[in-house]
Amino acid sequence: MILPADYHLHTHNSGDSEAPMEEMIESALKKGIKEICFTEHMDMDYPVTEDLTKDYFLLDTASYKKELYKYKEMYRDKITIKFGVEVGMQTHLAKKNSDYVRSEDFDFVIASIHLIDGEDPYYPSFWTGKDVKKTFGQYFEYTLENLKIFDDYCVLGHLDYLVRYAPKNNKDYSYQAYSEIIDAILTHLISKDKGLDFNTKPLYTDKSCPNPNTEILKRYKELGGRIITFGSDAHKADAVAGSFNKARMMALACGFDEYCTFEKKIPIFHRL
Ligand SMILES: [Zn+2]
Ligand SMILES: [Zn+2]
Repeated sequence: MILPADYHLHTHNSGDSEAPMEEMIESALKKGIKEICFTEHMDMDYPVTEDLTKDYFLLDTASYKKELYKYKEMYRDKITIKFGVEVGMQTHLAKKNSDYVRSEDFDFVIASIHLIDGEDPYYPSFWTGKDVKKTFGQYFEYTLENLKIFDDYCVLGHLDYLVRYAPKNNKDYSYQAYSEIIDAILTHLISKDKGLDFNTKPLYTDKSCPNPNTEILKRYKELGGRIITFGSDAHKADAVAGSFNKARMMALACGFDEYCTFEKKIPIFHRL
């Protein structure tokens, strides 16, 4: 059984990873993966905090690309390596992000929301004094608002990302509780031939649901969606293809029988 391609990987080119690219590639090879795509962070206007400098998530694209093409050539008989990016959406950045993506010959682009009102839910301080249920709703609304003005991407990254970091034991999250806005996001993606990043990170870290959860994946399929990519969102070598066996079974159970890789932003379908 060959695992699906891993289409969400970070290396030292991303502000929050120190992983050498070659270690990530070797790890993929060890797991028998035939294709990977690096998707380094490009989050413009990420807020300055105590421990992060202004350009923490700004990607040095030229240097990243040079390194990637070196390994692509070096490993070409062993594994296919694609050139991707994970772009952080904020409404005021729609044009800047478009210009950026179009200025490069990316194979694959993930569009993600990492910030709401300029704050990252990754930090516990984000949640202080916030109504969790309302914040989830705002997050989905903000996602749709961004997708309506930014179109230069292939898949939406980790659709319910903020749930990963929400205070534990909250009972406010389920697809049903936000079905209207989530359906609007999914319908929008489908009408634009865009896909979903099936993000397995929570599966191999705290063993919770993937992002998005399986109810949302199932709903995307029901509404006519066909494009999913598998992404471990690994920031270090041992996490490459993390929980991919389990994720593959989950995708099959949600009704998918194929998944995608990309070449110059065009999807290529493979049997699951
Ligand atoms: Zn992300
Ligand atoms: Zn990521």
